[in-house]
Parts: sequence; structure tokens; C-alpha cells
Amino acid sequence: MTGLVVAGALYVDLGDGREIAKGDRAGQIQWRRLPRARYECLRCQTTETPNGHGPGDIARFVAAIRTSHTCRIRQPQAA
Ligand SMILES: [Zn+2]
Repeated sequence: MTGLVVAGALYVDLGDGREIAKGDRAGQIQWRRLPRARYECLRCQTTETPNGHGPGDIARFVAAIRTSHTCRIRQPQAA
């Protein structure tokens, strides 16, 4: 695999949560430690973090950051 370049590192901490079994909040997740994520671009040395701290914010960030990151370093031109 020639030409393969590692462009960034995505760190994800899934947190510590348990589903509530009974009561008014049954089915919801009770978090002891919220999930976290960050993306480090190895080209422009930028670190990006999610806009919010909720589990949905983290999930959207992880799903989109590799394509939504606007790199400050120009992409190398294909030969
Ligand atoms: Zn970048």
C-alpha cells in the first residue's frame, strides 16, 4: 500500500453508562462518566473537540469529523 498517509488521530472515550431498568426514566442511560472525543490532525497540528458534551454531540462529532475537518495544510497534489 504505497502512498498511504495517516492524516489524523481520533480519540474516543465511550464513557461509563448504565441503562435505567425501572421507573419514569426506564430505558434512558444514567452516566457516571460522559463520553468524550477529540480529533488531532497530524498535518496541521490542530485539535478539534465536539461542540457539546452530550452523548449525541459526541456521536455526531465522531461520525463527521474526518470529513468535516478543514485542514490548514493544503492536500498534496496527486502526481
Ligand atoms: Zn488539518
